[in-house]
Amino acid sequence: MALSEFKLIQTYFNRSNETAEPDILLGIGDDCAILRPKPGQDLLLSIDTLIEGVHFPQGTAAYQLGWRSLAVNLSDLAAMGAQPAWFTLALALPDSDEGWLSEFSRGLFDLADQHQIRLIGGDTTRGPLSITIQVHGYTPTGKALRRDGALAGDALYVTGFPGEAGAGLRRIQQGGYTDTDHLIRRFYQPRPRLAFGQLIRDLAHSAIDISDGLLADIGHIFERSGVGACVDVDAIPCSAPLVEAEGAVEALRLALTAGDDYELCFTAAAEHHAQIMHHAQACQLPVTRIGTITFEPGLSLINASGNSVVMEGRGYQHF
Ligand code: ADP
Ligand code: MG
Repeated sequence: MALSEFKLIQTYFNRSNETAEPDILLGIGDDCAILRPKPGQDLLLSIDTLIEGVHFPQGTAAYQLGWRSLAVNLSDLAAMGAQPAWFTLALALPDSDEGWLSEFSRGLFDLADQHQIRLIGGDTTRGPLSITIQVHGYTPTGKALRRDGALAGDALYVTGFPGEAGAGLRRIQQGGYTDTDHLIRRFYQPRPRLAFGQLIRDLAHSAIDISDGLLADIGHIFERSGVGACVDVDAIPCSAPLVEAEGAVEALRLALTAGDDYELCFTAAAEHHAQIMHHAQACQLPVTRIGTITFEPGLSLINASGNSVVMEGRGYQHF
């Protein structure tokens, strides 16, 4: 690489002059980072790889890539009600383009700073563009929100407006868009729901973040929990920009099946409804009840009149 590996890491990723957190004894620069997890807390880990052409379109702007790579990982912490702590970054780069690196690290740290998560190490190699991030976070002992806790009778909720990122991706693939378009931003710059995830940690029975599509991810909850779900398609929140761009029918299909939104889907006892809505308001986050967890396994879809409806396609699957 034109820029030495050492210089590259030093310039774009090492911010060791920032104030240290008490749980980080040693960050970037040695063979390992040294961490001292906080007492009374469980440590949660998650890792995701983003590959050009698979997880993001070729030619994605570096700023948005930096943001999105961290966002999809932070979203996993949000889904489990965790508070972010630190992360590692393994980068494969075709060349050491300084303009690209500067924008990538700016997007990455803009989001990292919003959620006070620190980069503590990584690896840098030459190869086809690929970004792997592992995030680490805390919950109080035994308090993590999991997929397997849903109970029959729970109300089923979703945050935000699912389907917007899917419509954004469609526009990106069609070309001729501007990066400031609301739907495009929803794809490139998802906002992990970390504050809300932590607020509902003691209220919700189960949660997941929506990466594969709302119905597919609801499926993960009820399969792991040994229950089923009944979803009211007329309750699904379809945003005005989504309906305007896609029409009502396609908007609903995208909301149910498109991935990449990184909103949260969760279940909770109906008695907590008012408190959940209170937390939603505190986070200025729309939260909608969209169904109920059932004893009967599997997914059923109904409309507002209670009649069953049928949908095809359950979201994106890699294999
Ligand atoms: P080693 O050869 O011992 O694996 P490296 O030269 O790969 O060491 O890395 C040197 C230091 O820089 C290590 O502390 C490593 O964690 C850190 N590092 C390497 N690449 C990155 C990166 N992309 N982001 C953050 N830290 C990195
Ligand atoms: Mg290394």
